[in-house]
Amino acid sequence: MSAKKTLKEEALYYHAKGRPGKIEVIPTKETATQRDLTLAYSPGVADPCLEIAANPEDVYKYTAKGNLVAVISNGTAVLGLGDIGPAAGKPVMEGKGLLFKIYADIDVFDLELDTKNVDEFVRTVKILEPTFGGVNLEDISAPECFEIEERLKAELNIPVMHDDQHGTAIISAAALLNALEIVNKDIAKAKIVVNGAGASAISCSKLYHSLGAKKENIFMFDSKGLIHPSRTNLDGKKIEFANNNAPAETTLTEALTGADVFIGLSKGDVLKQDMVKVMAKDCIVFAMANPTPEIAYDEAMAARKDIIFATGRSDYPNQVNNVLGFPYIFRGALDVRSKVINEEMKLAAVRALADLAKKPVPDIVNMAYGKDNLIFGREYIIPKPVDPRLLTTVAPAVARAAMETGVAKFPILDWDAYETQLSK
Ligand code: NAP
Ligand code: MG
Repeated sequence: MSAKKTLKEEALYYHAKGRPGKIEVIPTKETATQRDLTLAYSPGVADPCLEIAANPEDVYKYTAKGNLVAVISNGTAVLGLGDIGPAAGKPVMEGKGLLFKIYADIDVFDLELDTKNVDEFVRTVKILEPTFGGVNLEDISAPECFEIEERLKAELNIPVMHDDQHGTAIISAAALLNALEIVNKDIAKAKIVVNGAGASAISCSKLYHSLGAKKENIFMFDSKGLIHPSRTNLDGKKIEFANNNAPAETTLTEALTGADVFIGLSKGDVLKQDMVKVMAKDCIVFAMANPTPEIAYDEAMAARKDIIFATGRSDYPNQVNNVLGFPYIFRGALDVRSKVINEEMKLAAVRALADLAKKPVPDIVNMAYGKDNLIFGREYIIPKPVDPRLLTTVAPAVARAAMETGVAKFPILDWDAYETQLSK
């Protein structure tokens, strides 16, 4: 029996065993006595209802809203599986709920919407706003995902983030800053080739730009070639990265010649060893297509000794994984009742993640990876998902940035107490 089949069988069994799926709802109050039930439901429940009716912000005091995030998808871009539909995407959304809970104690309702219509999607999420403290948009295809997120951010008073765009951008930006630091290169001078021009590639490139990368040094490719101003078939947001600093017919190999950075957000096995070999000294290659990266770890490492290499996979060093971000970004945003997740909050998360990788690694993390001593360097440029310090580092950084930019409705006054509460 092949290893793949075993994983498939195990995964199907895991999801089907016991109560099917991965999530359930658990009461948070005592329910043992008749009195408890009188308080929990009629007639006692009328009192918090009336308090909230009189003072809408009290919904945070008397209900689960403030710790409840909606993970919402229409199943049009699920993992690397494509448009498999809302029901088929549900295991992913439940999985996201599981990760929110175990890493940041955030409760999730996963909502799979049966629509590809942007207006209908936006309207549906908008009327759900009273229920939730935040909205994590997930696995929605480009270019619709851009409009959906922009409209919801404008219309809702709770934080909204499309994680496929911004989560990836935040984690990979932290990894990129650290990789550049290790090889002593300046982001403002780095030649960056981005393969892929979809939701994640555009958002990553925008964030790298706000961290100092120059647009004229960013060469982006889609399935048809270089994103160039002469192209007439540029949909979505591709035009933002149209670059006439190279001829329109430039190939990926030509663009990679002398490049400092390759960012892969396209599809598996499209980067060959020969292409890696023409990159600049101390090249940085992030092959992030899932589940098969643009180039396999072994091939990339065999191509160059001086490479810094990352993928989306957990079985190799330097995993760029969104789970390093979304639980803690929402934790910080919820805890100050932020109205949004703005650029400064994202940049605060980038810096917090980048800095954390430079600190000595706790034993519990080394043990989880069977290592003696993970240490900041080529094989360890970003923290590991099991690192308990992520919660106490990233969430406060995001909360602080929300307060400093005036979007927090419920400021944290005692930071020590907040961090203690987080680590409980
Ligand atoms: P997307 O919106 O569908 O974008 C995919 C992009 O790749 C499109 O622009 C497409 O070109 C381009 N493309 C396809 N084949 C190509 C090729 N041979 N050469 C150059 N470009 C090519 O998808 P996405 O959400 O951005 O995700 C892209 C990939 O990144 C997926 O594999 C996903 O799993 C992975 N990803 C990984 C992480 C992580 O944390 N590791 C996070 C997010 C996404 P056209 O526009 O011409 O179709
Ligand atoms: Mg996703």
